[in-house]
Amino acid sequence: MQFAFPPQQAVVPIDGSDTLFPVHRIYCVGRNYAEHAKEMGHSEREAPFFFMKPADAVLPVANGSVGEMPYPSRTQDLHHEIELVVALKSGGKNILAADAANHIFGYAVGLDMTRRDLQGEAKKQGRPWSTGKGFDYSAPISSIHPASDLKTKGSIQLVVNGQVRQQGDIGQMIWSIAETIAHLSTYFELRAGDLIFTGTPSGVAAVVKGDVLDGSVEGVSGLKIRLT
Ligand code: MN
Repeated sequence: MQFAFPPQQAVVPIDGSDTLFPVHRIYCVGRNYAEHAKEMGHSEREAPFFFMKPADAVLPVANGSVGEMPYPSRTQDLHHEIELVVALKSGGKNILAADAANHIFGYAVGLDMTRRDLQGEAKKQGRPWSTGKGFDYSAPISSIHPASDLKTKGSIQLVVNGQVRQQGDIGQMIWSIAETIAHLSTYFELRAGDLIFTGTPSGVAAVVKGDVLDGSVEGVSGLKIRLT
């Protein structure tokens, strides 16, 4: 059997390696830092909730280079959300939090870019978030830094045009990485190649064409993009 046309595989580079990480799915956690939940108008602790982006929404940016993200269509309010990304080397259903670390391939720095105006309209109408969250190039991501520990602390920040916009610590997550993997695996069978965007600290705001976004997570790496 042959393919009707060449199959396409989204990939992310791996730090210190010639091999590439093939992306299976992109899961995202909503409202996982209390201060960000507050700025979005929510105050009580709630069970983690998830949404997805298509695998080929990744915009991989190798360490030391500046990625170019085209400003998306149909929005006047493109927001940045800096996030720690967990990359999985294996998966399963109903993973126990105590076993979560066994499935971690490594970590990357990601941006959950959001058409906030379209997301806000979808929320109001009770419609899906796909156009607000799952558009082309909506997931800029750094090289993956191999690691198998459960990351529980470390600063996370985003600087836009030289000014700090978002600043927090991984330790402020409402649902830890282990709890997130455990919860997510009750809804979906996780697989090698899955990426999990673990939520953003407060300070989300709009960016425009020409802006330079420089994100980092302590002990992982950096991610730099320019909007074109
Ligand atoms: Mn997010």
